[in-house]
This record gives sequence, structure tokens and C-alpha cells, in this order.
Amino acid sequence: MFTPITGRSVLVTGGTKGIGKGIAAVFVGAGARVTIVGRDHTVGAQAAAELGADGGEVAYVCADVGLRADTERMVAEAVDRFGGLDVLCANAGVFPDTRLEDMTEQDIDSIFATNVKGTMLAVKAALPALSKSAHGRVIITSSVTGPITGFPGWSHYGATKAAQLGFMRTAAIELARSGITVNAVLPGNVESEGLTALGPEYREKMEASIPLRKLGTAEDVGNAALFLATDEAAYITGQTIILDGGQTLPESLLALEAQ
Ligand code: NAP
Repeated sequence: MFTPITGRSVLVTGGTKGIGKGIAAVFVGAGARVTIVGRDHTVGAQAAAELGADGGEVAYVCADVGLRADTERMVAEAVDRFGGLDVLCANAGVFPDTRLEDMTEQDIDSIFATNVKGTMLAVKAALPALSKSAHGRVIITSSVTGPITGFPGWSHYGATKAAQLGFMRTAAIELARSGITVNAVLPGNVESEGLTALGPEYREKMEASIPLRKLGTAEDVGNAALFLATDEAAYITGQTIILDGGQTLPESLLALEAQ
């Protein structure tokens, strides 16, 4: 049994949809006070209402993690509302697909702005508040794509997801002084609005390539994030947890067929 995290203040960037919303739901279920962040105000306000429907304390802040002023404001609002900040889930991310030959400079700048710069700005903005917490945690949502695997159309995305881990390893050393741990979750294919937008064929083929034969859920990712936020995980830093149903294990199609 883990020590309850009831009452802790948790900020989830990209918490208005998909995986981030699932992470937020798991923390709300554990009694945390949760601030979710996204750029679409209507979607964000609706998500906060849904997440708080059973009496949980949930606030929404409209912010773009690619903008320093927005990240500072989102942290300030979480601190004002819930009296501090204990956990930052740097989850906001985008995954447009474009092959290298068609990729524009703007495509590269835009994906790095949210996935890499957005992660770093969010962590930087949260540092003063996390340093004051006795349980400071940063949990980054990376991916298997980039750090472990590749997929045509996602070279820029894979680069951003690997970059997050490069950032994490040095941040974990620097922030250890303040007692803050920095870890990452690496989902495989997880049910989300973003994944649904890739179409039914993508989903079907992905399911067939996963030894557990199903996509992950946002709750699966949320449970891993919750574990990393517990007191019992206080000695884990600079590490990754892969959640992919075994997708990165088979060395070939034969390995799957021989299952
Ligand atoms: P999603 O359903 O499209 O949700 C993305 C969330 O991030 C939304 O809340 C979105 O809200 C927010 N967001 C995007 N850009 C933002 C920005 N610049 N500033 C603030 N918020 C922003 O995507 P998802 O599938 O849940 O993905 C979430 C994370 O998991 C990403 O980092 C992604 O790389 C990672 N991931 C996903 C999968 C998967 O299979 N789904 C697998 C591996 C890793 P707004 O659009 O309103 O801003």
C-alpha cells in the first residue's frame, strides 16, 4: 500500500484531452487537487467540469506551453488556487505526421515549440514552487517513438520525444539538490483524441502489432505517473517507464506469429 497523496497539488499540461486527461483523472481519484492546461478554452473548461464532477478539486488554465509567459501564469494560477505545487506532469504534445521530403522549417519549429521547448519552459516555471514542496516531482510524457523506435512520417516527432529524455537526465541531476525527482513515461499506442484522429486503419494495424493485442488507456499512463508521484518512488530519478503492451519487444513479425 502506497502512502496516500491526498491534497497534493498537481499540474497536468495537455490535461484537457487524451492521455493528460487520463493522468488528471487518476490523480483526482487519488484525492489530489489538479490543474489542467490546454489552449482550447471550451474543451478545457468542459474537461475540468467532467473531472471534478464527483467532487474532485480541478481547475483549468488556458495556456500555450510554448510561451514562457503562459507557463509562468499556469504555475502561478495553480499555486494561488491550491496553495503550492507538488507534481508537474509535462504531458502536452503534438504529433502531426509529415515525411522528411515534405517537411517545412515551420513544421520542425512548431513541433519543437510544444514538445521540447514547452516541456523545458513548464519545468523551469514550476521549479520555484516544486522546490518548496517536500514531494517535488516532474513526470514527462515522452514516447517509445524516438527514444526506442521509428515510424515514417514522425522523424521530427521522434526527435522531440528523444530530446525530452536528454533534457530529463540532466534536469534530474540539477533538481536533485532541491529534492525534486524527474522521470518520464514512454507510452506506446494509447487511446486518445489524437490517436483516434489517425484513423481506424492505423488503430487496427497497431493492435495487431502489440503482444497484449490492445491499445493502452490513458488510465494506464496515469497509474504509472501516480506511482512516480508517490513517496515510495522518491528514490527514483532520471528513469523511464515504458507502457506499450509489449509492442517494442518482438524482433520481427515472426516473433508475433509464433506467439
Ligand atoms: P491529444 O489527445 O491530442 O491531447 C494533447 C493535449 O495537449 C491536449 O490537451 C492539447 O490541448 C494539449 N496541447 C497540445 N499542444 C499544446 C500547447 N502548445 N500548449 C498547451 N497544451 C497543448 O494527444 P495525446 O495522445 O493525449 O498525447 C499526449 C502526450 O502523450 C503527448 O506528449 C504525446 O506525444 C504523448 N504520446 C501519445 C501517444 C498516443 O498513442 N496517444 C503515444 C506516445 C506518446 P489543446 O490542443 O487545446 O492545446
